[in-house]
Formats: sequence, C-alpha cells, structure tokens
Amino acid sequence: MNSGDDTHESSRCPGCRVELPVTQWPDTPRYNASPACLKVAGDLLGFEVEHQVRLGYLHQLRIDAYGGQHVRVGAPRIGPVFALNGLYMFLERGSGNLDVRTAHGIMANSFDDWPELTPPASVGRLTASDVLAAGGPEQVEKAILTWADEVWQSWPETDRAVIRKLTIDLVPERYFRH
Ligand SMILES: [Zn+2]
Repeated sequence: MNSGDDTHESSRCPGCRVELPVTQWPDTPRYNASPACLKVAGDLLGFEVEHQVRLGYLHQLRIDAYGGQHVRVGAPRIGPVFALNGLYMFLERGSGNLDVRTAHGIMANSFDDWPELTPPASVGRLTASDVLAAGGPEQVEKAILTWADEVWQSWPETDRAVIRKLTIDLVPERYFRH
C-alpha cells in the first residue's frame, strides 16, 4: 500500500460508495457505512433541523433513504425492511413521517418472520454527500427526493414486491394517502 505520502487519506463508503477524506466519527452497527459518510448523514440531519419548515416533512424519508443504501449484511433483518417500507409508503402511497413511524410500530408488533433482503451491488447514484452539497434548502429538498427514489428503484423488483405485499398485509389503509 502506498500510504503516508499524502496528508489526507480518503476512504470509500461500503454502502453508497462515496469517496471522502478519512474522518473520526463513531461507528454504528446499524449501517454499512464509512465513518466519513456517517458524519455526512449527521450533518444532513443538522441541515434539516436548520431548515425545518421546508425539509421537516422529509425527515423519515431521509432516514429510510440512508438506511436502504447502507444495509449491513448480517444485521437484524427488520432494518432494511423498515427502510424499504418507509420508501414505499412515501414514494408510492404518499404517506408522511407519522404514517411511516406508526406503520413501523404496527409492523414490529404484529410480525417477526422478516425476509432477508440482500442489497444490490449498487444502491442508487446519489449519496448523502451529494444531497448535502446540492445547495440551499430548495436544492437539498429536491435532491433528497431524487436520492430516495433512486435508492428505492435500485432494489430488485422482487424485493420491492415483497415489501409492498408485507406493508399492505400489515398496515391499515388509513396510513396510505393514495
Ligand atoms: Zn455511504
């Protein structure tokens, strides 16, 4: 390895594949992500909080887009199921933050035989880092929507069909807006 000749080394995130300078950031068993990418996810939350009026309605979608893009193989199966459930409910059924959070609670309490979902080799083109770098709140809003859609579309249709069926079977219709 040719290390030590640069002042800043970079690392590639195993989940979204973004290449970022190495950063000290606490690891989490929840996500398959580099510390630098986890820091970006934290910064993106900070940006959302600063621009709550415009971005607040995307709170859960941001979490689920990140989750669906950083699935750790061998982690509890419910993680990717919840992430994809949230993406499905927002993108295809028009559900909001509270609808999805309530659905997660209902699902957790009514089922435990979750399918094992293996992430595709490439999960979307955009990364949390691209979203944060998009510009002001308006641009970031647009980028979050595109990012979430790309993550959802990148999962195999068979997995998405499993999620649609599980969701419709377990979640009462009133949590779908269309
Ligand atoms: Zn990442």
